[in-house]
Amino acid sequence: MSEAETVDLAEADAPHLVTEIPGPRARAHIERDARVTSPSLPRAYPFVPRRGAGSVVEDVDGNRFLDLNAGIAVTSTGHAHPKVVEAIQRQAAELIHYSASDFYLPIYAEVCEALDRIAPMSGPVRSFLTNSGTEAVEAALKLARYHTGRQYAIAFYGAFHGRSYGAVTLGASKAKYRAGFGPMLPGVYHAFYGDFDHIERVLFTHLVSPREVAAIFVEPVLGEGGYVVPPEGWLRYLRELCDEHGILLVADEVQSGMGRTGKLWAIQHFGVEPDVLLSAKGIASGMPLGAMVAREELMTWEAGAHGSTYGGNPLACAAALATIELVEGGLAENAAQVGAVLLDGLRGIRERHPDLVADVRGLGLMIGVELPDHDAAAAVERAAFSRGLLVLGCGENAIRMSPPLVFREDQAKVALEVFEEAIAEVEAR
Ligand code: PLP
Repeated sequence: MSEAETVDLAEADAPHLVTEIPGPRARAHIERDARVTSPSLPRAYPFVPRRGAGSVVEDVDGNRFLDLNAGIAVTSTGHAHPKVVEAIQRQAAELIHYSASDFYLPIYAEVCEALDRIAPMSGPVRSFLTNSGTEAVEAALKLARYHTGRQYAIAFYGAFHGRSYGAVTLGASKAKYRAGFGPMLPGVYHAFYGDFDHIERVLFTHLVSPREVAAIFVEPVLGEGGYVVPPEGWLRYLRELCDEHGILLVADEVQSGMGRTGKLWAIQHFGVEPDVLLSAKGIASGMPLGAMVAREELMTWEAGAHGSTYGGNPLACAAALATIELVEGGLAENAAQVGAVLLDGLRGIRERHPDLVADVRGLGLMIGVELPDHDAAAAVERAAFSRGLLVLGCGENAIRMSPPLVFREDQAKVALEVFEEAIAEVEAR
């Protein structure tokens, strides 16, 4: 797509539908896909994107959708931001790959320097770059065990940390993510998210000595588990618990980080510093990159203990540097402003449809709308899709809104109108 086309699509009216949804090309593609792809892929609805710009995505039939998914909270700077595209193209022409694990890549260290500057920890940090959020989680679990010499970890019901054995064991959002794969990794306990009592009264009393716990893994705002903002003081309570027992606090900001909540990191809303920060998704606007960022003194592992062929690939690093500049240069602030408009509008919808909209919550452009049950959430998701609005279910009965951070106020107003129509349609059934 040329730069002119990118600008045009980003500014174009959306939703704008020219066929039935899904259209004939989308249906043909889905048939083809169904013959050759892994049936494990959890497709939400029959959306087949072809190109995107800003917060607008066009499908293979030429229908324009307003995108409140951002490719699942990934395209933070919007689809095909010209500065990100330019950075990737420039880097591709120079050097597509050299393994930063075995040799020295200047751009890898540049990303680590940028992370050192923006990390929500006051002292120096070091970073290990990965290809995904899952790998960042895995790296943190390994570092926590290695550094502390302790075997156990604590995570939370409702959490999602990825799909590898370590990450899926830490997660506890849906039983189907574990079904057929057991046994899980030994040594992981779960507590209730937002609960001030369970860890000490149940886990530390009956199941595990705090002296043997290496780390507590927490999403500062619960993502896949329902876009839940924790109660006031809870993250501070976890920080104090960790300090008391020498446990590492690992903030999984794969979904909530990189400006999504209106601050660079969600944990900054709560006045707490983690020991380890995990980032991915929005960090490189869609190029595969993750980061495990740890306080310098924790990185005691020796050469060869951990590495990756592709992690911190130059193209992903180039996209990350451009993304960080844009997010710091105003997009996090935009997320706070436009997020407030969206949240306010959704609260109005809740007042007008109290039987269907049970709760509205969020920070910045990370907003959850709770419905009475799973079927209602799925019906609203589908009704929004058929009107050209992309939103996605999460948790048992919620809808998540995580648009690109370039989302505009006028687009938020259109999204609210279309979302209310979808709510009204489901309510009338
Ligand atoms: N951690 C959190 C909080 C996530 O939301 C996700 C993905 O949704 C992951 C980790 C896993 O990231 P990835 O899918 O990039 O492996």
